[in-house]
Amino acid sequence: MPSPIHLHTVADLLARDHTLQLHCLRCDRWRKAPLEHLATQGLADRPITALRFRCVRCGSPAQRQLRPPELPPASGTGWMEWPPRASPTATDSEPGRRIQRSRY
Ligand SMILES: [Zn+2]
Repeated sequence: MPSPIHLHTVADLLARDHTLQLHCLRCDRWRKAPLEHLATQGLADRPITALRFRCVRCGSPAQRQLRPPELPPASGTGWMEWPPRASPTATDSEPGRRIQRSRY
């Protein structure tokens, strides 16, 4: 069983490539918390629950949202075709039905 990851401090988030997104309810605006800047200012060991941010536009306290690293984009559309297209192999295997193949 893998060991749990701990995301308590600014350094924990940076080590695990997590981000702390900040949302202002009044302005309906999202911004990313400057974790790298905080770490260089000596706040790497600061618990993220102790960090307080305010909106630069209206001064309201920001809501915090912890986000995991972004996943690489999925290949294709992410959907499968249903019902699946009949393949020649599936048609050949139907009981009671034989396909006469012409010779070239
Ligand atoms: Zn605001």
